[in-house]
Amino acid sequence: MIRLSNIHFSYKSGDFNLSIPDLRVEAGEKVGVVGPSGSGKTTLLNLVAGILTPEKGSVCINEMEINCQNDTTRRDFRITNIGFIFQDFGLLDYLDVKDNILHPYRITGALKLNNDVRDRADKLAIQMGIDDKLNRHPSALSHGERQRVAICRALLPGPKLVLADEATGNLDPKNKVHILELLFKNVDKHDATLLAVTHDQELLPYFDKVINFNDFLREETL
Ligand code: ADP
Ligand code: MG
Repeated sequence: MIRLSNIHFSYKSGDFNLSIPDLRVEAGEKVGVVGPSGSGKTTLLNLVAGILTPEKGSVCINEMEINCQNDTTRRDFRITNIGFIFQDFGLLDYLDVKDNILHPYRITGALKLNNDVRDRADKLAIQMGIDDKLNRHPSALSHGERQRVAICRALLPGPKLVLADEATGNLDPKNKVHILELLFKNVDKHDATLLAVTHDQELLPYFDKVINFNDFLREETL
């Protein structure tokens, strides 16, 4: 499903370097990503999603080598195939919760908004316990509630790949396991693959496999 080969990446500014010789995630696997803050976990998810492109190496999602595609193709591919739960949620405050959840359907012609989709959005909101907040704007929600909106938005199109960046990081212990189980259930329902960054050691037993960022060869700046 995901294959990264001989990746070298650095940001235009700063001295952060990331090298990933080989990383594979099979279809249907649920993989946790751990590592210290600043080690490049968010950068990895952005490379997989095609938001960032590497200087060297290839990023393949199924048969698609996404680093070779232009910006528009990468964006459309991402919206239709990848559910990304961003660390900072990426919600739009001028839209209410319902419209935030439906947003992917408004920005690409590849996803068709119809009554079935609206029903599924309502069902997801009920599952995530935010159905009483659909008319609110994100600024009037708690951190944990915003996180659940971001999860609903990512899951609604039934993506084959879900990327989750600390998706349960702002939830209290009881909600954390509940939301993680819902996330896993939705991933299973669509036979999807999950790559999830977490700080939380308690959640690691839930994953099929754990990638530890300390294992990657790092190019240190001289
Ligand atoms: P993590 O998610 O593991 O905490 P990140 O992938 O967010 O780490 O960041 C890895 C490193 O890259 C950090 O040192 C961070 O400061 C740096 N970094 C992140 N984004 C940028 C950027 N846009 N420009 C320059 N440096 C960045
Ligand atoms: Mg991060």
